[in-house]
Amino acid sequence: MNREQRRAAQRQAKKDGNEELSEKITLFGKLGDTCLVCDKPFNKKDREMVMTWNVVVREKEDKVNLYCPECWSGAIELLNEIKSDLQEQEE
Ligand SMILES: [Zn+2]
Repeated sequence: MNREQRRAAQRQAKKDGNEELSEKITLFGKLGDTCLVCDKPFNKKDREMVMTWNVVVREKEDKVNLYCPECWSGAIELLNEIKSDLQEQEE
């Protein structure tokens, strides 16, 4: 889908009163093809993948970051480690 087609699809979705659909079209247009961390390929047509992969929207950068389940759980663990480090420092 190119930019113009996406715009047209968004306009149509808005006309139909379907804001949610319009948002999804925007997101899917920006969605990458691989995991941001390990470059594992992502198949947008694979329902299982769409359900299990994690999407982080960076509105300011107008970007959508994509993480496979493995990298996502790794990132959460890292976050928790940093958090507990910070808490220790505070005490
Ligand atoms: Zn990954």
